[in-house]
Amino acid sequence: MQDKLTPFSELLRNMQTMPQTPYDIGELARRRIESINKSVGDLTGYDCLFCLNRGYIAILREDNHEVMQTCSCMETRKNLRQIERSGLSELMTRYTFDLYLTPNAWQRKIKEIARAFLAESIGKWF
Ligand SMILES: [Zn+2]
Repeated sequence: MQDKLTPFSELLRNMQTMPQTPYDIGELARRRIESINKSVGDLTGYDCLFCLNRGYIAILREDNHEVMQTCSCMETRKNLRQIERSGLSELMTRYTFDLYLTPNAWQRKIKEIARAFLAESIGKWF
């Protein structure tokens, strides 16, 4: 008694027409990435809405490889630590644009220039 062997070409054709399961590798990886990015981290000092205080964001590349990218808040956290160490943190909370009074025209001009400078240099320092 001899079993009938299925030709390889037929096996291959059947594989190509098989329905994809909902749990293919890409879907599993996407769910894993989603799960990682929903998890809440324990970093303190700054509340980040992007990484939920983990310090990194999971990204799925096109080849289904997971990579962890450092969140931009890590730079902010570093800067905040440096401000704290410098002893200027209290000054930064007391001396704000809102609290800078401008009864005279020259003070209003200074404030306007300072605000313009800050708007231009966002991302260039701090
Ligand atoms: Zn972050």
